[in-house]
Parts: sequence; structure tokens; C-alpha cells
Amino acid sequence: MLQAPIGILGGTFDPIHIGHLRPAIEAQAALGLAEVRLVPNHIPPHRASPFCSSEQRLAMVRLAAAENPGFVVDEREIKRDKPSYTIDTLIELRQALPDTPICFLMGMDSLLSLPSWHRWQELLSHAHLVVSQRPGWQPDYPIEVAELLALHRTQDPQDLHRHRHGHIWLADNLPIELSATRLRALLAAGQDPRYLLPPTVASYIQQQGLYQPAP
Ligand code: ATP
Repeated sequence: MLQAPIGILGGTFDPIHIGHLRPAIEAQAALGLAEVRLVPNHIPPHRASPFCSSEQRLAMVRLAAAENPGFVVDEREIKRDKPSYTIDTLIELRQALPDTPICFLMGMDSLLSLPSWHRWQELLSHAHLVVSQRPGWQPDYPIEVAELLALHRTQDPQDLHRHRHGHIWLADNLPIELSATRLRALLAAGQDPRYLLPPTVASYIQQQGLYQPAP
């Protein structure tokens, strides 16, 4: 007997925003996910945002998770001293949770770029993929992704309960046109980010003076 599925959402979260959180909340409800794990990435120090450290990204993800029942933070990638590939994280999770269906959550932009991911053909051997719509990225699939969908797409959420891995489910989420890049630009222009991210995260950004206009 399998456990209820869990969701995994990896990201840079620089900062975490409603474009990450709303699709995850909607997937949690639509699929009956027992848990949504937020997995902030490691960013090599030379590529890190000049404004925001790994500790600060992690603090913001923790604040966002604290506001959402069922959301937890997984620090395995951000605490490492090198970037990890999604495939390695999924293999680790699969070993730790042998009887739990794992749903890897991603936006449409990530699905379109999947063929450039390390060992992408193996992802579905460890997890399902749950893909959220994202304005700006149309489902004009590269051939490899079209073939993957032809083999693995399901319209039945129960397939994500009955099997540990191997299905792709395209969510019918409310599309949210926001990226962290856009949000950083808005903050750097001195604008108020209210309603674009959790109030606790907005307060943290303000207290820490992150992403602020250049003096
Ligand atoms: P940046 O602008 O810095 O590249 P981002 O806002 O795209 O950041 P990431 O941390 O790179 O955020 O994204 C993590 C995951 O969240 C990816 O799978 C991405 O597709 C998804 N995601 C981010 N924003 C949205 C959104 N507005 N709608 C749906 N999915 C999103």
C-alpha cells in the first residue's frame, strides 16, 4: 500500500514569490499532496546575487513555508558546497521514501528546457512531473518533450497516487505572470512588493535591506 504523494518544488527562490507558491498550493489541493517540500538550490558563490546570501534565501523560504500548512523546507541542496542535480536529489528522496509517490513540481518553462537537464530521461524513473502553466511559455514542445508526454501524460490525478513515479500531469492552475527577476527589478526600482509575496517575506526583505535601489 502506497503512502499519499508528496510534492517537491526546487528553485532559487531569490526571493520566493506567489508564482512559486500559488501553483504549489493548487497542486497540493488538486492532487491531495500529503506535503509540499521546498528545496532551495545551492548557488555557487561567484554566481550568487550580490544582495542575497544562501542563508537569506533559506530564511525567506522558511517564512513562506511557515504560512502554509503542509509545506516544509528541505535544506539538502542549499547546505551543500556544490550544486546538485535534480536527478541526484530525487534518487536520494526515493531511497528515503520507498513507498511514497513523489511529484516533482515545475513551471512550463522548466518542462520546455527539460532536455538540457542532467540525465533528464531518468527523472520519471523516480518521480512524477507536475507542470504548472506559466504565462510567457506556451506548450510548443521540443520533440523530446512531445515524445515524453505522449508516453507518460495522464489526465487522471489518481495515477499519481497509484504509482510511485512515471506520470506527467499538466495542471490547470491560475497563471501568474511573475518571476523573481521581475520582482527584484521592482524592488530595485523602489516599488512596493505587496501581494506579490508573503507579508512575512516582504518584511524580512525590508528589515534586511535586500534588493534595494542603489544609493
Ligand atoms: P528567476 O527569475 O530568478 O529565474 P524564477 O521566478 O523563475 O526565478 P525559480 O526559483 O528559478 O524562479 O523557479 C523555481 C521553479 O518555480 C521552476 O520550476 C519555475 O518554473 C517555477 N516558477 C517560477 N515562477 C513561476 C510562475 N510564475 N508560474 C509557474 N511556475 C513558476
